Amino acid sequence: AQFPHLTDAERKGMVDYSIRAQKSGDGYEITTREGRVFRTHHEPISDNGFVGIAIDVTDIKGIQNELKKLADENFLLANKDELTGLSNRRHFISELDDLIAERVDDEAEFTLGLLDLDGFKLVNDIYGHPVGDELLKSVAIRLRDILGDDALLARLGGDEYGFVLKNALSHLDLEQMGASICKSLSEPYKLGTEVIKVAASVGSACFPVAGKDRSVLFERADFALYHAKQSGKNRALIFSAEHELRIRRRSRIELKLRETLLERDLSVVFQPIFTTSEQDVAGVEALARWHDSQLGHISPDEFIPLSEQTGQMSKLTPILLRKSLASAVYWDSSAFLSFNLSAAEVSSTSHANCLLNIIAESGFPVSRLVFEITETATVREANKVFEVLDLFRKSGIRIALDDFGTGYSSLSLISRMPLDMLKIDRSFLDDFANDYAADAVFKTVSEMSQHLNLISIIEGIETDVQCNRAKAAGIDLCQGYLFCKPLSENDVRLFLSKQAHNRLGAEPNTSRQSMKG
Ligand code: C2E
Ligand code: CA
Ligand code: CA
Repeated sequence: AQFPHLTDAERKGMVDYSIRAQKSGDGYEITTREGRVFRTHHEPISDNGFVGIAIDVTDIKGIQNELKKLADENFLLANKDELTGLSNRRHFISELDDLIAERVDDEAEFTLGLLDLDGFKLVNDIYGHPVGDELLKSVAIRLRDILGDDALLARLGGDEYGFVLKNALSHLDLEQMGASICKSLSEPYKLGTEVIKVAASVGSACFPVAGKDRSVLFERADFALYHAKQSGKNRALIFSAEHELRIRRRSRIELKLRETLLERDLSVVFQPIFTTSEQDVAGVEALARWHDSQLGHISPDEFIPLSEQTGQMSKLTPILLRKSLASAVYWDSSAFLSFNLSAAEVSSTSHANCLLNIIAESGFPVSRLVFEITETATVREANKVFEVLDLFRKSGIRIALDDFGTGYSSLSLISRMPLDMLKIDRSFLDDFANDYAADAVFKTVSEMSQHLNLISIIEGIETDVQCNRAKAAGIDLCQGYLFCKPLSENDVRLFLSKQAHNRLGAEPNTSRQSMKG
């Protein structure tokens, strides 16, 4: 009756082993054909004899296996992105740190790449999150295909991916790799019943030339990614010497923003806005200019985002607004003055009150003032922003949504937003496959503006074709180089006087009704 679960052979094996292991006192584990695990222990009792104990450890074994599985799962959870099965940010960073530590002495090259999908948010909005999730998975599969199994590949969050190519690549090879990533990711995706297209932008930076520590490498790959997006999306850029120069210039500008006499060096130019039908001046947009004695002309596309990032717009805006209003009070015109506000400036009531004071002091009628804000302003704290916009509107200022079509343009947001005008971005003029599509989109936007009782403006008109398209779609107002470039303070005053005399007293009116006739 000893060891009833064992077959004769098993029992014999155990006895043989036990005799051999007598002296060492080792345990002996045996798995029966039924799958039970016994652990035996033996104690010598006399010269040739021993006592053996067998314990059924099947259940303990199971628990141990369970524990190991749990530990493995925990490891995966902590390091893997559940959705795509790729590494997660945490694991990616720790692997990257290991690689840097490994390469820091011999400086053997490797490449860090960052990738961001263009238009992913729209897919989520239109098709819903499950489809968005499927898309993210498909992207992961395509990326793995191109990069190969050796590359580190991770989803860093949202629609953002990171990769590390551990071997040195020539600039040309890296460019080709980037191009094939963009090409592959922009092929249509078949997800359930939907066929979806997105694109991707890629930025990369090479160790050690672009940086020797992780944060610098990340920053530079990110810089290249940002420029890939800026320069038309669906592109891959490698951090280069030119980028390096730009970063240096940026830090010089950042310093200047703190140090210089902005009151003296900042100025404003004015670009007229016309009615599409009659091409009368309806309004004028104030645009900031900065001339520095050392850096020369600095474009607002450079210094505005920078001062936004460094929280300095609340210093710049009062100067620019004061200067704009000081000019506009002398205009021989009833054209509105359109002034750009940054996102951060419409989320604080105290800042809003400060701007209202400046307006009151200027003597310029609030009814002729328009504040242009971008959609990004509303992404963060929509309710707070709406409150500030309401405050402006109650005091008589009109609100225009700038750069419409470049952001996420959630239609529900636009219908809820306190708005008077919609400025359609100039990218709308070019980004269409054909004229038919362009016409259709223009018409839709124009009709939407009418339904929401908004004045529609198209900016960046450079050609007659574009102008005619706007006219055909019924867009209310036009702005662009075709009609007039931004003018200096003096030139805009002369321009407006001339217009006023040409029209001999016909009062321009910019309310929707009068423009529509
Ligand atoms: P934005 O508000 O979209 O201004 C329109 C930009 O397009 C201006 O560039 C204008 O000169 C340019 N533009 C006008 N017509 C045409 C055209 O037909 N073709 C082309 N290609 N461009 C045209 P600018 O003056 O360099 O301003 C760039 C951006 O800087 C502005 O874009 C705005 O976002 C920001 N900005 C300018 N001034 C201010 C300001 O006082 N405050 C704030 N917060 N932002 C400002
Ligand atoms: Ca604007
Ligand atoms: Ca704009």
